[in-house]
Amino acid sequence: MKANKEKFECQECGKVFLKVIPKSLEVKCPKCGSYDVDLYFAINHVQAVDLQ
Ligand SMILES: [Zn+2]
Repeated sequence: MKANKEKFECQECGKVFLKVIPKSLEVKCPKCGSYDVDLYFAINHVQAVDLQ
């Protein structure tokens, strides 16, 4: 098994960062410490489909 890093965007400060999703599914923003983060990949998935 390999750990896949996913791209997240913090909803508090807008920081975009890569992180392996922990088993707890709680991802903390490295900049402001907020747990209010969304998968950044999902936002860009529509455009990214054609490139893969
Ligand atoms: Zn943040």
